[in-house]
Amino acid sequence: MSHELRTPLNTIIGMSDVMLEGVYGVLNEKQHRAMANLQDSGYHLLALINDILDVAKLAAGQMRLHREAIDVDSLCNSCLAMVKKAADDKRVALVYTRDERIERMVADLRRMRQIIVNLLSNAVKYTNEEGSIGLEVRCNEEGDTVIITVWDTGIGIAPDDMKRLFKPFVQVDSSLTRRYEGTGLGLTIVQSLAALHGGSVRLESEVGAGSRFVVAVPWIHPPGEVASKSWNPDGDSDFANSVRTDSPLLLVAEDNESSIEMLTGYFELAGYRVQVARNGLAAVQLAASLKPDVIVMDIQMPELDGHQAMQRIRREDTSRRVPIIAVTALAMPGDAERSRAAGADEYLTKPVSLRLLRKHIEHLLTLATTTTRDQVI
Ligand code: ADP
Repeated sequence: MSHELRTPLNTIIGMSDVMLEGVYGVLNEKQHRAMANLQDSGYHLLALINDILDVAKLAAGQMRLHREAIDVDSLCNSCLAMVKKAADDKRVALVYTRDERIERMVADLRRMRQIIVNLLSNAVKYTNEEGSIGLEVRCNEEGDTVIITVWDTGIGIAPDDMKRLFKPFVQVDSSLTRRYEGTGLGLTIVQSLAALHGGSVRLESEVGAGSRFVVAVPWIHPPGEVASKSWNPDGDSDFANSVRTDSPLLLVAEDNESSIEMLTGYFELAGYRVQVARNGLAAVQLAASLKPDVIVMDIQMPELDGHQAMQRIRREDTSRRVPIIAVTALAMPGDAERSRAAGADEYLTKPVSLRLLRKHIEHLLTLATTTTRDQVI
């Protein structure tokens, strides 16, 4: 599909280039304008097709990341350069701040650029003339997460619209007379790519005051550079626990393969037995058949989402209350409350520090044992 769609478009764009350069004779002004228009539309369509193909690939779980060591400052500068003209045309100021400790990280360069450029383009698009937008890079206190924020002083987003904007083809103003061009695919792509990196997106916004999109991804250091705490299980003194048949059973409900690999690898090393459910329905079934000691539940999953899965587990298994930790890649206001109402005991945002997750699990397991003992007494 990708080849079939892109090939004719490449011809259209290429041939219009040839015409514009006067290879087949010099064009008059009207012809030049018409040809330039044709070429612009070609580029526009190409961008659209690329977005649609990315969304299809992400939805089918076919998107693979090519991780490499990247220079964060060059990444940011190249993204800013891509939106500079659009910002200058609207006299919108561009502000860039970076914590200088963050020099390099391991990530997919092309996909990280896609995340940042999408957010920056939106920031320019939805900010009125002479406003400002910014790109900010910092890390969390533990130094294991890179936090990339794109902010603007633009039109803002109402609380009711926040969550649905991350769904494909959704725009706040989808009327035929709408003021802003676009497809409504950008934020879906941003969110899925952040999740593929094991990270999350958070949105804070106020109508009329502006928005802040906060992308948090694990800070993986290039080999040979300072090791990230969350990816370095050797740093844990009590890590040599072996898995035994009576070790606690952890059910990981998660559809992202790299998160599955990371969680199973870590918790098996920590002495847990681990089973995986790749969608919400499988989570409900495995929760009933395996009777796990604790469940780590991703919220965005196929078939049933994490909220629905937790509700069904709570409804169907009334004989006990298995501890559930909800983990989300899209943190919206009110999410923590929604997760708790659906049955979660704890709520965490990706990227989850594995050490912190383990602490939560150990705490919940201790609570569960105490409660059971109390009931027996
Ligand atoms: P598009 O911009 O192509 O319409 P996106 O998925 O990137 O699609 O964004 C979806 C919708 O979210 C936009 O149509 C707009 O209504 C809203 N939006 C995105 N970014 C911002 C922003 N920075 N400020 C205000 N609204 C925004």
